[in-house]
Amino acid sequence: MIDLHSHTNESDGSCYPAELVEEAVRAGVTTLGITDHDTFAGYDQALGAAGSAGLQLVCGIELSTKLHGHSVHLLGYFFGSNGLAQFRDWVLELQAARRERNVRLAARLRELGFDITVEEAEARGRGMTGRPHFAQIMVEKGYVGGFREAFNEYLDESAKGYVYRREPQLAEGVERIRNAGGIASLAHPIRVNGDVTALMPELRDAGMNAIEAYHSDHDAKHTRMYLDLAKRYGMLVTGGSDYHGEVKPGVKLGSGYDGNLHVPEDLVERLRGQT
Ligand code: AMP
Ligand code: ZN
Ligand code: FE
Ligand code: FE
Repeated sequence: MIDLHSHTNESDGSCYPAELVEEAVRAGVTTLGITDHDTFAGYDQALGAAGSAGLQLVCGIELSTKLHGHSVHLLGYFFGSNGLAQFRDWVLELQAARRERNVRLAARLRELGFDITVEEAEARGRGMTGRPHFAQIMVEKGYVGGFREAFNEYLDESAKGYVYRREPQLAEGVERIRNAGGIASLAHPIRVNGDVTALMPELRDAGMNAIEAYHSDHDAKHTRMYLDLAKRYGMLVTGGSDYHGEVKPGVKLGSGYDGNLHVPEDLVERLRGQT
């Protein structure tokens, strides 16, 4: 079984990298892509365990980017390592920018009268600390009635505690992935804001060379539609469960929700052939 979309606790999954490898083997996965948000730390740590377990690991990443002002997730897969060092440096820069934003966000929230530090937030979010962790703290400390309120009143882009963070545009992410010798795949197209069909020419022109047609959020009809789009635009296809462990109960590695995910066995060979 193949699963090219999974998260460790280096981003927002619940499993340590070595645990994720164990889980994958137990689930019958033979090729696993680790695609943590904006970091390779989980993949790097899983390599040793995967080697011992005989699991094929694929180096991946899921970048948070912006397209027409909306958030779009972009997958990058690296089968060779051509140019990867430069790409990794850029990813480290993104992480540094996030950390620096978090410091300013904590200061802003203190300014608004809340007792919140960046360390408290990082204790929860580790390498991928973000606004949801600040929201959690605000709920726990009773500053707001709930998560929704934390965002609506303070953390949302339109709210009074918002602090700007520079996020890469989708096209920049695609370009950097491709320049590093990677495959750029549109993650879970079902979640893209707007009509994916209408966006396709723009995505292709940006250099996107794959679509995640197989995903645990896609039913058979959606999968079919994205496969057709990929074919029409001469793009490759990727697929995976988007496993997050206990963070997203119900999603199983390799098979998704109640076995709704079927990634074809020859998919990795096709991807490899392109790099
Ligand atoms: P950050 O990357 O730290 O800027 O936080 C972005 C994350 O915050 C997103 O991935 C969402 O999970 C969450 N988020 C952003 N806006 C909202 C909102 N209005 N309500 C709830 N969650 C939100
Ligand atoms: Zn995630
Ligand atoms: Fe995603
Ligand atoms: Fe994901």
